[in-house]
Amino acid sequence: MDKTLLHSLYNSHRFKTEGYKIVDLLANHLEGTISGKNEKTINWNSPENELDFWKDFLQNGTKDDFYSEVLKRTTHTHNPKYVGHQVAPPAPITALTAMIGSMLNNGMAVYEMGMAPTGIERTVTDLLAKKIGYHNKSRGILTSGGTLANLTALLSARKAVAEEDVWNNGYTQPLGIMVSEEAHYCIERAAKIMGLGEQGIIKIPVTNGYAMDTSKLEEYYQGALDRGTKVFAIVGSAPSTATGIYDDLEAIGDFAKKKKLWFHVDGAHGGAAIFSKKYSHLLNGIANSDSVVIDGHKMMMMPIITTALIYKDGRHSHTTFTQQADYLLTNVDEEDWYNGGKRTFECTKSMMSLHWYILLKFYGEEVFNQNVTTLFDLAKGFAHLLKTDSDFELAIEPVSNILCFRYLAPNLSLEQLNTLNQSIRQELLEDGEFYLVQTKLKGVHYLRTTLMNPFTTMEHLSMLLKKIKTIGEKHLSTKISQ
Ligand SMILES: *Cc1c(COP(=O)(O)O)cnc(C)c1O
Repeated sequence: MDKTLLHSLYNSHRFKTEGYKIVDLLANHLEGTISGKNEKTINWNSPENELDFWKDFLQNGTKDDFYSEVLKRTTHTHNPKYVGHQVAPPAPITALTAMIGSMLNNGMAVYEMGMAPTGIERTVTDLLAKKIGYHNKSRGILTSGGTLANLTALLSARKAVAEEDVWNNGYTQPLGIMVSEEAHYCIERAAKIMGLGEQGIIKIPVTNGYAMDTSKLEEYYQGALDRGTKVFAIVGSAPSTATGIYDDLEAIGDFAKKKKLWFHVDGAHGGAAIFSKKYSHLLNGIANSDSVVIDGHKMMMMPIITTALIYKDGRHSHTTFTQQADYLLTNVDEEDWYNGGKRTFECTKSMMSLHWYILLKFYGEEVFNQNVTTLFDLAKGFAHLLKTDSDFELAIEPVSNILCFRYLAPNLSLEQLNTLNQSIRQELLEDGEFYLVQTKLKGVHYLRTTLMNPFTTMEHLSMLLKKIKTIGEKHLSTKISQ
């Protein structure tokens, strides 16, 4: 077989020249986006047009244009006018750790296939456990995303708390999980994957402030019992995704203790506040939980995807998945914390621990304090701006960096205002200078911002409001003239 092509593919000189080119390109991109020199946060294109472009490019595109087209046709999280989904503008140095991981490709299912990332992962997860306030029997894993981490935690919970051995024998009795109706949809998905069914997800209503109404826990718990569902876990959101409001972890923890439930904290978004001197109080009670999830790719400035799942009692991490894959896993008397594949959903996973470690080693915990505190503070400033402007309505006083609001106009019905705000959001998307999202809360359509970029300023946010007003007024006047 002629291997010319393979030789050229693995040529180290080629890697170097291409690598320098890409680093130059990305550095320019970074400079242009952070400084705001690049005008657009998103160059909106419809899915059909985008598909046509890439199908055509594969046949007719110029190789040299590939990188620039990718940059042009993506959403720029480093632009300070990016105030949309909860994805971090990654710290540039973590793009380099991602590259190291990709080049080495150590899959980490067993220790030998990733010695350094395994030692690093244990170091990072031990540090997180300590920060949460767990004792030294804690263990953690890194895994591919908050969704998977929540499912993993709930599987551990079922194994630890349910009386029957569901893993081996299936269900003999309906089981259930209690969670706020405002929790991230992945909790319900986890329950469905686990075969708990509709009855197995017991949704607790929220207060007017959008936190789980803990005064209703007893009532809903009894209701589930009366229907024959045995509750085994309760999930606190820290915070919930739509509104960014933290559940009362102390009250939930007390309830969990009383009923002997597994207490899981979904801190995918805001668990990082454990590093904030000013805001860690939002997580009061987290140390009483049995497990905590924190996404590195949200508030901790890392690239997608890396999530920490930390267990108060590390033994539960070892018993989540008990099926045998003997070629990989050996049963040993001492704790084999170093064979990661036993405890994670993934068999092969990426060397994601490098991102956490490099930030801690090069910049220290202080960098997380600064990021979380800056972003939460900024949301408070933005809320103040909205409250002093009668063209806008703030949905709820923000406690984190998630903030929902809407444009108001006199003499419009709820329905008309909903449509108007929906149109505004669509026009903002197509315009592309700013990127924000939307959500519905109790039937009201809101524009939703997550302030993810520490370089977003009040000035940017004022410009956003000005733009929304211009769009809103235009829509109103065309409506009237029709
Ligand atoms: C983002 C989020 C998730 C999902 O995490 P992924 O990393 O996107 O899978 C789960 N729960 C909450 C509260 C979140 O904010």
